Amino acid sequence: MSADPCPCGRPLDYAACCGRWHAGAPAPDAETLMRSRYTAYVRGLDDYVRATWAPETCPPTIDPDPPGLRWLGLDVKRHRMIDADHATVEFVARSKLGGRAHRLHELSRFERRDGRWLYVDGDLA
Ligand SMILES: [Zn+2]
Repeated sequence: MSADPCPCGRPLDYAACCGRWHAGAPAPDAETLMRSRYTAYVRGLDDYVRATWAPETCPPTIDPDPPGLRWLGLDVKRHRMIDADHATVEFVARSKLGGRAHRLHELSRFERRDGRWLYVDGDLA
């Protein structure tokens, strides 16, 4: 039993999982970074979302979730290393808004710069 299960889907408490990266430690790989960004969306940690977004693709403002939106879970389908500093992560994030279920299926690109993984961009699947 976990007192504070991490929203990202790994069977750990938040503090032992994404909480470590939110506190400033660099996420060790692109999948872990992607999971920590999902958790940041769930918890409304916009500063973390921005800090882990490549500056050239990060939008000037991050739209807040629509009122009533609930994130239900994350499934990571595939984590692929392209080279030491480039990777892709394919995931499905599920949410619910106004009684309707929604699936976000994306293939995201990540790049490591100065030892930190960043989200660059993605294609909806
Ligand atoms: Zn987590």
